[in-house]
Amino acid sequence: MNPLRERVDALLKSLPALDWYVNPADVKRKSLDYHWFSPVLRRELEGKSADAIVRPRSAEELREIVSGCVRENLPLTMRGGGTGNYGQAVPLDGGIVIEMTACDQLLWLKHGVARAQAGIKLGVLDELLAPHGWELRCMPSTYRMATLGGLFCGGFGGIGSITYGPLSAPGTVLGIQLMTVEAEPRVIELRSPEAMQHAHTYGTNGIILELEIALAPAQEWDEYLITFRDAEAAFGCGQAVAQTPGIIKRETAFFEASVATYFKKLSPYIEAGDHAIIVVISSANRETLRALVNTAGGRIAFQQTAVAAKTTQHTLLEYCWNHTTLHALRGDKSLTYLQTTYGYGREREQLALVGRQVDGEVMNHIEFIRDERGRVICSGLPLVRFTSENRLRDIIALYRECGVGVKDPHVYILEEGTRHGAMSPAGLDAKRRFDPGGLLNPGKVRSH
Ligand SMILES: Cc1cc2nc3c(=O)[nH]c(=O)nc-3n(C[C@H](O)[C@H](O)[C@H](O)COP(=O)(O)OP(=O)(O)OC[C@H]3O[C@@H](n4cnc5c(N)ncnc54)[C@H](O)[C@@H]3O)c2cc1C
Repeated sequence: MNPLRERVDALLKSLPALDWYVNPADVKRKSLDYHWFSPVLRRELEGKSADAIVRPRSAEELREIVSGCVRENLPLTMRGGGTGNYGQAVPLDGGIVIEMTACDQLLWLKHGVARAQAGIKLGVLDELLAPHGWELRCMPSTYRMATLGGLFCGGFGGIGSITYGPLSAPGTVLGIQLMTVEAEPRVIELRSPEAMQHAHTYGTNGIILELEIALAPAQEWDEYLITFRDAEAAFGCGQAVAQTPGIIKRETAFFEASVATYFKKLSPYIEAGDHAIIVVISSANRETLRALVNTAGGRIAFQQTAVAAKTTQHTLLEYCWNHTTLHALRGDKSLTYLQTTYGYGREREQLALVGRQVDGEVMNHIEFIRDERGRVICSGLPLVRFTSENRLRDIIALYRECGVGVKDPHVYILEEGTRHGAMSPAGLDAKRRFDPGGLLNPGKVRSH
C-alpha cells in the first residue's frame, strides 16, 4: 500500500471541486476539540492531526468522499462543531476529517417533531423552531457551536435535561438516517430504539446524515442567579426547584462558593463566600420561585429574561454544565474536572462522604437532571485540583468506593469511560455492518 500521504494526495486530486482545508493551521485547528480540559488527554493527544479536512455541502459530496476514502483505505473522522471533551473528534491515525457543518438544513417540522441534517448548529435549530412554538428538549451549553449530529454521537444532554432527561431517554430521538462506509456507500434509515445503537458511539459505527427528534413546547424563560450563605440551603433550594413538578424549568444547577468565585462577570452579584444556584424557569413560575427562595433564606442576586440574555449575548446558561469548568480553567489552569452521578436519594450522604476525604481538592458543581426513569437525580461536574495523574485516578476510585458513578473524562477510548464500559453487542454489530473496513475514527473503540 502507498504511504498515507500519497493516498491523501490521490484523494484530493480525484475530488478537486470539494471544499478542502489543507492549510496546516486550518488542519491543526479542525483536528482538535476541547479535550484540553483534561491534562491527561492533553498529553496523550498531543500532535494528533488529520492530513486534510473536507466540508461536504451535500449528501452526494459526502458519498464521493466516503467512497474515495474506502478506495484509498484512509481513516476518516467525523466532526461537528468540535466541542467534544474526550478527544472524540481528534483523529488518532491521521487521514481525513469530515466536518459536517455545511449539511445544516431543518428539513421539516410537524406536530412537535423535527427532522434536520446532522450538521445543523443546535442554537440555530432552536431559533428556527421558536416561531413555530417549539424548542429543543435538551442541548449542551455549547449550543452556539455544537451540532445535532455531534450531540447525538458524542454528547449527553444538558440544558433541558432537568425536564426531559438525557438525549438518550426514550422518546426524544425518534429516528436517524446514516451513511455506511463502503466503496458504494448505502443510506440507511433507522427508527428508535435501533437508532440509539449509534448514540454516543463517537461516530465509529456510521455517518449520521439526518436526525428526527421530538420537541418541547417553547417557553418564555427567565434566568436567575440566587445566592446563599449556607451551602446546604443552596443545594436544598436547587433540589426543591428541580423536584417541584409545577415549575416549568430548563436548568437547575448548584455551585459551591469556591466554584462561583470563577464566574468573573457575575462577581458584582456574588458576595465572598456565597454559594449559588442558577435556575432557568418559565416566567409563569416567578412567584413560586420567590416563595421557595424566601423559605430557603436565599437572595435573588441577578435575574434577566431570555430576551434580555439574547440581546446582551450574556446568558446564565453559559455558566452551567461544562461551561462552569471553562470559566474555572480561565481563572486557574491547574484545575480539571470529573463527571459523577450520585445515587438517587443518597446525594447528600455521598457528597459528605467524598467531601470528608478530598477536602480542598474537589469543588462541587451539581446539575439536577431527570434520569431515564423520570427521577430527579444529581449529576456532578466537580472541579478537581490536578496534582498528578495518579492522584486523579485515586480520586476517581474514591468516588466509586463511595457508590458514586464516574464517567471518566480523562480517557478517549469509548469503553474506558465507565467502570464496566463496553459497547453494546448491537452497537458492535452495527460497526461491523456499516464500517466493515474499520475506517471510522480508528482507535476510539477497543472491542471490535
Ligand atoms: C464548555 C463546554 C461545555 C459543554 N457542555 C456540554 C453539555 O452541557 N452537555 C453535553 O452533552 N456536552 C457538553 N459538552 C461537550 C460537547 O460540547 C457536546 O457533547 C456537543 O454536543 C458536541 O457536539 P459537536 O458538534 O461539537 O461534536 P464534535 O465534538 O464535533 O463531535 C463529537 C463526536 O461525534 C462524532 N460526530 C460528529 N458529527 C457526526 C456525524 N454527523 N456522524 C457521525 N459522527 C459524528 C465525532 O466524530 C465525535 O466523535 C461541552 C463541551 C464544552 C467545551
